[in-house]
Amino acid sequence: MSTITQLIHSIPVDEQTGAIAVPIYQTSTFVQEAPGVNKGYDYARTNNPTREVLEKLVAQLEHGARGIAFSSGLAAIDAILKLLQYGDEIVAVDDIYGGAFRLFNKVYEKFGIKVTYVDTSDVQAVFNAITPATKLIWLETPTNPTLKISDIAAIAKVAKANHCIFCVDNTFASPVLQQPLESGADIVIHSATKYLGGHSDLIAGVVVTKTAELGAEIKFYQNACGAILSPFDSFLLIRGIETLHLRVRQHCANAQAIAEYLEKHPLVDKVFYPGLTSHPGHEIAKKQSKGFGGIISFTLKDDTETAAQAFVTGTRYFKLAESLGGIKSLLCHPAGMTHKSIPDEKRRAAGVADSLIRLSVGLEEAEDLISDLDLAFHKIEEKLRASVSQKVFY
Ligand SMILES: *Cc1c(COP(=O)(O)O)cnc(C)c1O
Repeated sequence: MSTITQLIHSIPVDEQTGAIAVPIYQTSTFVQEAPGVNKGYDYARTNNPTREVLEKLVAQLEHGARGIAFSSGLAAIDAILKLLQYGDEIVAVDDIYGGAFRLFNKVYEKFGIKVTYVDTSDVQAVFNAITPATKLIWLETPTNPTLKISDIAAIAKVAKANHCIFCVDNTFASPVLQQPLESGADIVIHSATKYLGGHSDLIAGVVVTKTAELGAEIKFYQNACGAILSPFDSFLLIRGIETLHLRVRQHCANAQAIAEYLEKHPLVDKVFYPGLTSHPGHEIAKKQSKGFGGIISFTLKDDTETAAQAFVTGTRYFKLAESLGGIKSLLCHPAGMTHKSIPDEKRRAAGVADSLIRLSVGLEEAEDLISDLDLAFHKIEEKLRASVSQKVFY
């Protein structure tokens, strides 16, 4: 049986009623026959049948022992950090998701946890950053927004040899393309808000652990701290995951066509997409992933915020918004949006140029998306022409 067939049929039919869709058990508590005698559920923060189906489904997708669902991706990350204690250290990817950076540095640092950021595409740099206090290695691959690729299996070996928990934020790749637990990671986390949900209609996070023991620890924090996913959002997420394989396949095909189009465009300077042979991480991406994903970044030859803003406001189908992974194409200008609070010099040093534009390629027809981008490039040319004709000698 293929994994897709297996996945679809692992979503159980409701035993009570035969409902083929997973029922939304919208209840806070469960009636007990006698104290402690129940049908496996007592209070809905601890366990809910709808959420349980989702958690098993994601664990299966990632080939893990246990899945634990949270009310956001950041709540999922937060639960993992609670495995640590005062004085522990984290080695993390330098191109880390901004919200994770804020959580590490503005929340956990004051509880005595230190984070060292390194270029994880260099395994030696990861090794060098490990100290006797390092307990956790934190990776994203590909990263946001410059799509840097790191070798999961190689970092897993370093983590294991040095007794560190190795966690991979697999949001960008999705388990359809990459299963880090199979490459030696201990924990995978998803912002399920993105590809797992896939329809830009919910906020959710999921942790999947390699072992049942680690899973029980995370489960403890889910219940003890309480950032659970609601039954309705669990239902939506199950529904999203049912078409994950199809969607991701199409996101990849569309993105590849668009990246190749951008690479040839005269107004484009650099294109960051691991599916291009020009990408420095292409070979590793090919080795560890079944595809290159739906996110592309690129810079303009006219490397100014003005040119980028003309572009991002010049499309019809690509909507200007943060977030990614949904059926509708989105674009954003990190220097003016997600990375606005980072000082210019630091931002540029991290590879986020003034004109860098990030695309989340959706499921529209690729040729329509390409003609949409063409439209935006014409807008830049018009702006340029207008600024030249405004010039007066005296
Ligand atoms: C969006 C995102 C998160 C945070 O998830 P939320 O669901 O927004 O809390 C974490 N990691 C990555 C890579 C993301 O893109």
